[in-house]
Amino acid sequence: ATGIATIKILRTLMTLGTMANINTIIDTETGEYLAAEHGVEIDLSEAQSVEDKVITKIEEMEDAPDSLHERPPVVTFLGHVDHGKTSLMDRIIGHNVASGEAGGITQHIRAYIVDKDDKKIAFVDTPGHEAFTEMRARGANVTDIAVLIIAADDGIMPQTEEAISHAKAAEVPIIVALNKIDLPGANPDKAMQQLSQHGLLPTEWGGDVEVVKTSAVSGEGIDALLETILLTAELHEYKANPDRPAVGVCLEAEQESDRGVLAKVIVKNGTLKLGDVIVCGPAHGRVKAMYDTQNGRKRLTEAPTSTPVNITGLDQAPGPGDKFYVLDDIAQAREIAELRSSRSRAESLGVHKVKISFDEFQERLESGTLGGDKSVTTLNVIIRADTRGSIEALQKEMEKLDHPEVKVRVLQAAVGAVSVADVTLASASEAVIIAFNVIPDEAARSLADDKGIEIRRYNIIYKVTEELKLLLEGQLRPEE
Ligand code: GDP
Repeated sequence: ATGIATIKILRTLMTLGTMANINTIIDTETGEYLAAEHGVEIDLSEAQSVEDKVITKIEEMEDAPDSLHERPPVVTFLGHVDHGKTSLMDRIIGHNVASGEAGGITQHIRAYIVDKDDKKIAFVDTPGHEAFTEMRARGANVTDIAVLIIAADDGIMPQTEEAISHAKAAEVPIIVALNKIDLPGANPDKAMQQLSQHGLLPTEWGGDVEVVKTSAVSGEGIDALLETILLTAELHEYKANPDRPAVGVCLEAEQESDRGVLAKVIVKNGTLKLGDVIVCGPAHGRVKAMYDTQNGRKRLTEAPTSTPVNITGLDQAPGPGDKFYVLDDIAQAREIAELRSSRSRAESLGVHKVKISFDEFQERLESGTLGGDKSVTTLNVIIRADTRGSIEALQKEMEKLDHPEVKVRVLQAAVGAVSVADVTLASASEAVIIAFNVIPDEAARSLADDKGIEIRRYNIIYKVTEELKLLLEGQLRPEE
């Protein structure tokens, strides 16, 4: 693009001691030198995007249909605190994981792979739906199936409601485990009724949501839950290509004094092998050792798709949600990692500023860049209000909004102040937050600022619908 013969540039590079070909990635310093040497001006932002080229190429690499094989599903447990997430996981793993992996990471996100009838199921246990959605916001979709855990004696609680919204927004199949079925106070019918009210109609009642009654204490229903997971997986035909270089996600990582960096990663496609060169966020290195996540001591040489493993060999600890890629050579990995480190952290993590706002939505609506080739575009909204009554009134009014090309979709509606979880969900789902007679809490406000999420405050119902209507019609005036 500079009009200078490639051969001349390569020759200059050789004088610098760099054996290059036209696909070689050069760093910005070399770029500047080359530019000066050849008397051209270069845009360094373009040099930085060279990194994206390598990664984009991997991202866009398509697997031939006949290279694809069945892979284990990756399952995440979601639910209200104390409803039995940890206990169910313990039962499934077959030992008390709460006590921690012997040689593993201090547990925040736990990940295991278990055998069931010649098949495997991977579990990723995030500390809560916020962490689940935070990963999603970073583009690291690891979950195939969400298992919603509801204590049968307690029914649907506020965090269950949030978990439902987060799972729905992630557009993954939901299986319900009605846990603590052993308790005398268990009332499965009531819980199923509540589920129906939340748009999750149990198959027993003619819907499409599998509800399995479980007890982490007696073990009842655990097999049925695993079988249901496998059936759901079969239906969705999760596939991967075992023969390609691995791509995956870092779940968590920490600096250990004796082993260096220990990172827990999950392979999303391909097979990760000992000795592979990887780049993961701002980190890079060669996979020096690989350990299982069950007791943390078993050394592995390979990690097939959907397998969580602890690895050593990275030069620094990547963040949770950083994607990893296997590259051909270590120099390239170092280059990319260094480029990323030198950029601001927010940028290197791929956090996009300004997800969506009313103004931007309208702009995109007008320019036709929203929704691609879809004929109907969707404005995702999250509602926070002072009372249930306000929510119902708002939802009713929103249903009346009718537009041939634009649909308003309520991802979540809850009572109370706008929370960090709302902002995370909004960021992952390109949603705007409507705060009705409530204000965001401090943490939510600052996160919204960081992520460029619009929180619109109202105290009159017709104002909300009026603005939405104007927005849909493309006549909303920018806010003063
Ligand atoms: P988490 O917060 O969702 O991880 O919930 P825990 O697994 O820590 O469980 C909370 C409490 O409920 C603990 O005291 C468990 O022993 C108890 N619990 C969990 N599952 C069951 C169950 O199926 N039946 C009964 N009776 N108690 C359970």
